[in-house]
Amino acid sequence: MEIKLHSYNLELKHTFTISRESHDFQPSLVIELVSDGFSGFGEATSNPYYSITVDKMMKIVLENKNFIVSLSNEKPADFWKKLQPLFKENMFALCALDIAFNDLYARKQNKKLYEVWGLNIDKNPMTDYTIGIDSVEKMVEKMKELPWPIYKIKLGTKNDIEIVTELRKHSDAIFRIDANCGWTADEAIDNSFKLKELGVEFLEQPLKANDIEGAKKLYENSALPIIADESCIVESDVEKCFGLFHGVNVKLTKCGGLTPGKRMLEKAKSLGMKTMVGCMTESTVGISAIAHLLPLLDYVDMDGGLLLKKDIANGITINDGVISYADENGTGASLL
Ligand SMILES: [Mg+2]
Repeated sequence: MEIKLHSYNLELKHTFTISRESHDFQPSLVIELVSDGFSGFGEATSNPYYSITVDKMMKIVLENKNFIVSLSNEKPADFWKKLQPLFKENMFALCALDIAFNDLYARKQNKKLYEVWGLNIDKNPMTDYTIGIDSVEKMVEKMKELPWPIYKIKLGTKNDIEIVTELRKHSDAIFRIDANCGWTADEAIDNSFKLKELGVEFLEQPLKANDIEGAKKLYENSALPIIADESCIVESDVEKCFGLFHGVNVKLTKCGGLTPGKRMLEKAKSLGMKTMVGCMTESTVGISAIAHLLPLLDYVDMDGGLLLKKDIANGITINDGVISYADENGTGASLL
């Protein structure tokens, strides 16, 4: 097995603003694993909140190159298990490796990844499209630019309810709200009733991840389901979110890839919680991997490729929220 590293600085269509940061470019690492004439592709983007850069990801992969290559005949779950102790400080790099390895494994078997997992794609959910924080006029403009059945709206500003009230005048779509830790428990409870009236489906991570007391109060008093994001990072977090959140939003980059991500979703389902996978502005490489988890999901936010000025890969396609798989095996992704 051979490892090839491809680094990118993905340019976004619009400046992307959430409650704590703003950016025009998204640095990203694509790892290609080559074996027996097949290439598998995996991706992880950099993230300031988790102090992960593309350089740090490349460094840790190169430092462990010989060991990674020695695992070429493992099953994906064993590949992940053997690498995990070495990548504890950089689950993002492990994510890119794990996706590439799963992709490669499925391609070698001449199957799509969901077929390897034995999942049925008949009831796959549609993806939302994210509207970042901006002036209300710009947010309306962005919404009109891409009519969509479900929008995820980033909030955490001083005038959140006014924003949603205004957006509602221009669309009948389902709204989901992500406040990225921007509210207090009392604000969130109050907002939940107002937002329910405005046709909002759920609230994602309204409170800071360390506000356990607030999370409990909100869970018991909210008019809308509360989905964990910043509070649900790695596998052991799913159980911790039980009784504090109605569901979890799993991010492959944060938990270390498809292998643990799939287990987290199965765990959440077994606890009766809602399941979601979100993206971190990956290109179609990372987004194509997420698509194979759709049969396990209630909600999905996989609009990363749609937010880019220019994508770097072919793979799954998205039309009006509906995801279509590529003809290629594995995740279906291939670099342009
Ligand atoms: Mg989020």
